[in-house]
Formats: sequence, structure tokens, C-alpha cells
Amino acid sequence: MKRELIVMRLADMVRFHPDQITDRCSACGADVAVFPSGQKIMRHYRDVVLVCGVCRPPGANAKLAPGANLEPFQTHRKQ
Ligand SMILES: [Zn+2]
Repeated sequence: MKRELIVMRLADMVRFHPDQITDRCSACGADVAVFPSGQKIMRHYRDVVLVCGVCRPPGANAKLAPGANLEPFQTHRKQ
């Protein structure tokens, strides 16, 4: 099964993480942000595919990346 990492579009984000990176959605090409937890997944699973939350709304079997539940506390509001 293809592994997908669901990430947020930059345009939809009201907060940012200081260590996030930006990449592209594999489906629509939108700019997306990958938080550190997602970057860990990308390093661990080399074949992981990035998809934005618009192309792939998280379903019942979507799981949070390890550590992702803590990241809201590490983010800052965009100016
Ligand atoms: Zn997309």
C-alpha cells in the first residue's frame, strides 16, 4: 500500500512551526508545510508521498505522525 503523508497547504495555515519545511503536494502541486514529525516520517519511509489536506481529507484510518500532537504548542501565529 502506498504511504501518504497528509500535510497542510501553506495558504491554509494560520500558524507556522519554526522547523517546518515546505514542499509540494504530489497530487495538485500546492505549496505545503511539513512539520518536524512529518519530516521524520519522510526520512523513515523513503517512498512516502506528500498530499495536501484538500486532496486527501484525513479519514478514519489516518494516524498522527509520532510527536505531532505536541507540535501545536511549538507553533507561532503568523504575523
Ligand atoms: Zn493537493
